[in-house]
Amino acid sequence: MTENQTKPVVAIVGRPNVGKSTLVNRIIGRREAVVQDVPGVTRDRISYDATWNGRDFVVVDTGGWASDAKGLAARIAEQAELAINAADAVVLVVDATVGTLDEDQAVVSVLRKSRKPVVLAANKVDDQRTEAEASSMWNLGLGQPWPVSAIHGRGTGDLLDAIVEALPETSAVPEEAVGGPRRVAIVGKPNVGKSSLLNRLVGAQRAVVSDISGTTVDPVDELVEVGGEVYRFIDTAGLRKRVKEASGQEYYASLRTATAIERAEVCVAVIDASEEVSEQDLRILSMVEDAGRALVIAFNKWDLTDEERRRYLEREIERDLVQFQWADHVNISALTGRNVVKLRTAIDTAIEGWETRVSTGKLNAFLGRLVAAHPHPLRGGKQSRILFGTQAQAGPPTFVLFTTGELDAGYVRFVERRLREDFGFRGTPVHVEVRPRA
Ligand code: GDP
Ligand code: GDP
Repeated sequence: MTENQTKPVVAIVGRPNVGKSTLVNRIIGRREAVVQDVPGVTRDRISYDATWNGRDFVVVDTGGWASDAKGLAARIAEQAELAINAADAVVLVVDATVGTLDEDQAVVSVLRKSRKPVVLAANKVDDQRTEAEASSMWNLGLGQPWPVSAIHGRGTGDLLDAIVEALPETSAVPEEAVGGPRRVAIVGKPNVGKSSLLNRLVGAQRAVVSDISGTTVDPVDELVEVGGEVYRFIDTAGLRKRVKEASGQEYYASLRTATAIERAEVCVAVIDASEEVSEQDLRILSMVEDAGRALVIAFNKWDLTDEERRRYLEREIERDLVQFQWADHVNISALTGRNVVKLRTAIDTAIEGWETRVSTGKLNAFLGRLVAAHPHPLRGGKQSRILFGTQAQAGPPTFVLFTTGELDAGYVRFVERRLREDFGFRGTPVHVEVRPRA
């Protein structure tokens, strides 16, 4: 478990220019404010650690959207919906000096539907005079408007009290955001034993849908209980339909695989252990990695392998799977049931790695040590330095490094390797993005 995995999450939403980012900076303190001084930084859904009155929480900044886009209201509502779904409480920021516009209304209707606790911040109330404008915000029907000035700090203490009060002790989001059971996709080339594995799992126990409250299941999905925990297996219809894989079908097969991966949180990539690891196996592993999904590699048909084959397999793994060293392997037999329950442990580990959050403080302590011990090599007499970093996202862990210049690809890989050594991330891709300051 990482430290703030269960911290409650507050999303700051509202149309452009109402002062969301200013308010976020006010809430989190000054240090991270540097983020917005970096030109060209996409600030979509960047999250920060915050503390108020001894309560820790995570702030998600949804500021930084292009304000010249067509269909702005719809876009704002859409982005806000994403952030709201992933939050325990929402702060809607409105500009009290302007009043409410259509774009505000779009967000309000999303908020009503979400039934998440909402704290209404009437911003830019810089002095007593504008306080009256704030009262007009009662008409949004979201309860009491809190008059604040994000820029001067006026009223932000009361607002923070209201935010902390609206938050649960720990986050309820991880469960809700995935709509209950974890989404697992079984992927792999034809004939490796995907259907057999699914049947083996279902044979163990098919979950009764009505037992799981608030769960709607796509007819192509299947809820399956594995070792006492229910998982949602994605697109099982494709595994059940025994279509002949004619040559023209290959495109649709890979499209289907891509869609399943997209919908899943974690993928079980099945490889036939009795045959040589193929290009197609590697392609599917890359699809999972590129999509940023957690991954477990299942070597199936273990019952068909003898000692010689296993030795070869080991060599193939060393040669072809180095890129996926971060993923756990489980040697299974869908036929005999060997190790099928062990898959569950690997799936859980991968999901945990995938959702890991590292606090900005810990990350920068880590980066400080790393840069001191292993500075970036000199390039043309210049040396790029990492100024600081932040974890922009979990699922998969995504880090943004702010630097004085470009970093060598090899150095970025080195940083990623060290991140894994310090923080784990078993079973998940880790993304590291570099943002040189212009
Ligand atoms: P965002 O697009 O919602 O993230 O808005 P920003 O935080 O970038 O702020 C937009 C503009 O409003 C900036 O010029 C801020 O300086 C200004 N602003 C933000 N908060 C306040 C405030 O409390 N009072 C006043 N007068 N201006 C503010
Ligand atoms: P899919 O195309 O990936 O869904 O593969 P299937 O589940 O249809 O399996 C292809 C063939 O491999 C079938 O003849 C299965 O009986 C066989 N098979 C699947 N898993 C195993 C296994 O663990 N051991 C052995 N010996 N055969 C298996």
